[in-house]
Order: sequence, then structure tokens, then C-alpha cells
Amino acid sequence: MKYHVWTIGCQMNVADSRRLGSELEKLGYQHTDQVREADVVVLNTCVVRQSAEDRATGFLWSLKPLKQRRPEAVIGLMGCMVGVKGNGHLQSAFPHVDVFLPPSDPGPLVEYLLDLEAHRLDQSELERRYRAQDGELVLPLRERGSLVSAHVPVLYGCDHVCTYCIIPYRRGRERSRSVGEIVAEVQSLADQGVKEVTLLGQIVDRYGYDVPDGPRMPDLLRQVHQVEGIERIRFLTSHPNYFDDRLIDAVAGLPKVCEHIEVPVQAGHDEVLARMKRRYTTDDYRRLIHHIRQHIPGASIATDVIVGFPGETDTHFEGTLALLDELKMDVCHVAMYSPRPGTASAKMADDVPPEEKKRRLQAVNELQERILADINRQLLGQHVEVLVEEKHKGRWKGRTRTNKLVFFEETGGDLDRRGKRVNVEITWAGPWSMLGQLGT
Ligand code: SF4
Repeated sequence: MKYHVWTIGCQMNVADSRRLGSELEKLGYQHTDQVREADVVVLNTCVVRQSAEDRATGFLWSLKPLKQRRPEAVIGLMGCMVGVKGNGHLQSAFPHVDVFLPPSDPGPLVEYLLDLEAHRLDQSELERRYRAQDGELVLPLRERGSLVSAHVPVLYGCDHVCTYCIIPYRRGRERSRSVGEIVAEVQSLADQGVKEVTLLGQIVDRYGYDVPDGPRMPDLLRQVHQVEGIERIRFLTSHPNYFDDRLIDAVAGLPKVCEHIEVPVQAGHDEVLARMKRRYTTDDYRRLIHHIRQHIPGASIATDVIVGFPGETDTHFEGTLALLDELKMDVCHVAMYSPRPGTASAKMADDVPPEEKKRRLQAVNELQERILADINRQLLGQHVEVLVEEKHKGRWKGRTRTNKLVFFEETGGDLDRRGKRVNVEITWAGPWSMLGQLGT
């Protein structure tokens, strides 16, 4: 019995698909890359952009002939297309889908398959196969012992309502996982060879806010820091309003926590930020970045920007370019605004023409490329710590603590460097990656 999981979207979806694979393997299924030979096919979907939704819908329709040919094959639809509020409309639109799974919840598929199997196996065999233990994550077989870096969801959902964002409507209210469950999952990953974990939440620095007097992100980082075998810890995505001094102290003071922070600004003009309902000003953001840099030496900071939001004038956009030029971020993920039905901004006039959105996107990318080339050039001749992830086209590939991509060649011998932290001297630096040689 084989399964295939198709995933699109954010790291949260990648983590959800891994957990789904783990649950299916507990049931005795094996992974296959080939959709046509799978007995269970699951699409883990994203609706943050229309293009992602279109791709998922296209793939879903392509499975109809498979279902007609093999009616016993099970097709599951998971993630943000399904959402947390019922799926009647999807059932009638896609009658060839057997099971609908909300984001981060493999439960409905597991129950469906257990029901199917109940006809074939006795209860004790089912229980033997499916023994879920709180927090434990048994990696899918193909990743066990080889996965170096894994994502661990710590907070589901989002309580904010940024006007452009569909996520709160699809992933629901904030729900923090317990510290015990998270630590158990991280420990089980470490036992299977994982060296680095990235703790995930839509607003990860709001971890624990939904639990009165509960532990917060700095407390969670301290607990995860104690897990033996884990050598690096990251977390994303942060919101500027919750990145407080306790969190800064935790990042600065815990050696395993990497000095790499993802804290999106989204726009560089206060009028646009207000219409986005981001609840901070450009000055607030500016102060935060300076504060982080002051207290976390060498911090690399990533941001997100949306260009062409409704009502964004040339002047507003110039503000975004000026802010990026001033702050010199290490990464800037830029996206063109596209309205998502059901969000508040979908009711605003989408008045920036597509060509202008493209021009703005390109302008941000060009500026950012120049900034990054300058930042990375400063690393030439320096020694950096690289956690090696895999071999890629004959070179080892890994990341610095600041999340920069480094390639290096192994000269003499053929040691397995995967999962090792090595010292690399940077010999070439481009905006998106660097080359180096093993140092001593
Ligand atoms: S903080 Fe805003 S952009 Fe991020 S998930 Fe929540 S609503 Fe969406």
C-alpha cells in the first residue's frame, strides 16, 4: 500500500505534510513519488495567492481519471483550501475527493483509513500499527537518519486580521501547542538525526498568548534549548509588535538559538500600513530593527514586502524603497498584491495596474540584490560555521547561523559531512549564495 503527498505553500504546510506521511507510515503505507501507483493521494493546499490555488485545483482535476480507473484509491484534500469551517462547497465541486482535512490535522484521513482497514484487520493489529504517542513524530522512512533540519509547528492559526490575508479565515484562531508536546516532538526528531529545528507560527512571537499566564516564546526557546542532540534553533514568522525585550534576551543569550529573525514590514509607508491593519508605523519598525541589531550582534533580519496594495501611490512605494535602502535587510521576500476573496482588502479598489505592480516588484528585487551583494561581500575571507544539509551537484550545501546558503567542495577523502557543523572560509560571495573551502 502506497501514499503520495503533494504540497504547495508555506513551511507550515511542509511540516503538516511530513506529519501526515508519518501517520500514514504508522498505518503501514509506504511513500511513492509516482501518483499513478499510490493507493492514497493527498493534496496539501495553499490559498494565499491565486496562483497557488489554481495549481492545486488543476492537480485535483487531473486526479479524476485516476479515481475513475481505480475507485478504491483514496483522494484527500488538505490545508487552506479546506479551512476550518466546513467544506460542503468543496464536496459538491470535487465529488472524486474522499476525505477533507483541515490544515495541520491528519485525523480525518487516519480515521477514514482505519475504518477501511477495520474490515480487513482485527482490532489488536490495528492498535499495534497505530500507536500515537503525545508529541512524538516518527519521520517518514525516506527522511529518517538523513533529515538535518525540520520545521516544528508551535502555534496554529492567527488572531490578527491584516486586511489582505486569508489565513485567519482558513487556519482559525490561535492555538498554542503545549511546551511538553513540542519538546517531545523536538526530542524525537533529535533521536532520528535532526540537528536543527525551526519553530513555526503565523505570529510565532505570540506563542502562549492564548493561554492565560502560560509560557511565552522565550520560555519555549529555553525548554527546546535543553533538548540533547539539537544544535540549532530558529523560529518564524515574528510580528514587530510582539518582538519584545524578553525575546531579544533569549535569542542573544541562548547559544543554540540562531541570530536570524524573520519579521515582515509589508510596506514602507504609514498610510499603507494602516490600510493593511498591521498595527505599527514605519518608525516603530525602524526602532525595532535598530534595537535588535544593538542587542543581538551580527543578527540577520529578513522581511516581507507586498507591492501594489490598493491605494499604494508612487510616493507610498518610494517610502518602501527608502526604508529598505535605509535598513539594509538580509532578505526581502517581495510579492505583488493580489486580492483574496473574503478578505477586507478584496473590497478595496485594486487600483495599481499589473504592469506597475511588476515594475515595483522588480525595483525592490534590484535594490535588494545590490544590498545583499554588499552585505555578503563583507564575508569574503571570513570563517563561518556551516551546518551541512546535503550534497548538491558534487558540492556540500549548508547554511550559516544567519541562514545564508554556502557551498563547499571536499578535497581529499570522502567524508560524510551531512548533519555536521563545519568551519568554512568564504572565497566567493554572491547575493543569493556563497562558495567556500573547509577551514581548520
Ligand atoms: S499576522 Fe496578518 S499576515 Fe500574518 S497570518 Fe495573521 S493576518 Fe495573515
